[in-house]
Amino acid sequence: MTRFRINTQRMLADLDTLRSIGAMKTGVVRPAYSEADRQARIWLAERMEEAGLEVSVDAIGNVFGLPPGNEKCILVGSHSDTQPEGGWLDGAYGVIVGLEIARASMEQGGPRVACVSFQDEEGRFSTLTGSRVWTGLISLEEADECRDGTGMRLGQARLERAGLPEAREVSTNRFSAFLEIHIEQGPVLDTTGERIGVVENIVGIRTEKMSFLGEQNHAGTTPMHLRRDAFQGLNRFVSIVNDRLAEVAAAATVWTVGHVDLHPNANSIVPGRADFTIQWRDADDARLERMTEIIYACARETAGSLGLEWQHFGCDLIAPTQSNATLVEAMAKAAENLASGLWRRMPSGALHDAANVSSVLPMAMLFVPSKGGISHNFSEDTDRADLALGAEVLAEVVAGLQ
Ligand SMILES: [Zn+2]
Repeated sequence: MTRFRINTQRMLADLDTLRSIGAMKTGVVRPAYSEADRQARIWLAERMEEAGLEVSVDAIGNVFGLPPGNEKCILVGSHSDTQPEGGWLDGAYGVIVGLEIARASMEQGGPRVACVSFQDEEGRFSTLTGSRVWTGLISLEEADECRDGTGMRLGQARLERAGLPEAREVSTNRFSAFLEIHIEQGPVLDTTGERIGVVENIVGIRTEKMSFLGEQNHAGTTPMHLRRDAFQGLNRFVSIVNDRLAEVAAAATVWTVGHVDLHPNANSIVPGRADFTIQWRDADDARLERMTEIIYACARETAGSLGLEWQHFGCDLIAPTQSNATLVEAMAKAAENLASGLWRRMPSGALHDAANVSSVLPMAMLFVPSKGGISHNFSEDTDRADLALGAEVLAEVVAGLQ
């Protein structure tokens, strides 16, 4: 093991500077390809260069800091773009920890470590776009056709790169593993008082659009027993599905009816149509499949009992991702060394770039607590002591891998 010590004061100071780029109240507004995002990437590239890393920014805008030499090295990083209203740590924390580990290791003759900030993790144009293109899960040409909420093409947005070097691709073959540290964005660690989460897997997500179709009619003259009310269908469906899914759920299983459209959505009309989405997440593919069957059965049963028609429009699937078992054990060991009894193994309920990168490299992730479980919000926060500890645990993992 090549020991090296990271400088947590310097790491936190860099995190504060990155926070100031696009700062808004206590949070940050730095969506992918915005002016603030470009400034942040320029600043990051300068920090990498200062550290003696070679900067490569690929065509989609992922910023890499590479140590000299050609042998394979470990890649550490996350993303520095934010939600339209984002916190100061989501992604930024993992990017700066990657920078500090690469920098400290280089200064002290430790292992060769590269760092990265992936582009458009937060999905202005698509889902985890930068890491999806880098790992070849979609082509740059396909990504270029994605549009944001205003109709702008990604292919146009990515061309504005004044201050950034000319595009140069970085092969995934240069790296032996990918490590990402991130805030938990949920309440588990904050509630238990634990300080480190070792992520064993990233959940799979299934999302489906569904509709109940009834009969639109007069809300005064249509007797209750003759109604075919689409909203009542949705209401009954949600109630039944909650009970049935609870029977197969594990502790981290979640499901959400998140978007609802009633037609015609008026005071005096029995609703003729209810369009809605249902999304379910779990780290076990077999459980996700079982949930699919339950959801379909509940919808059919509801439609049958209320004289409605049920339609569904195909499932959008993101498969669960397993962390690399060897890396997980290395993280567990480092966590026990530095935070004895104050860490746990856990799934990630949020998607991360690491899920994409796992298709080409062994991957593992660490979590630190989110105060109040709050994220994607200006008030997102984590104790500075926890930020420092998480970085130290990850540095110990990196040192041990060489
Ligand atoms: Zn994130």
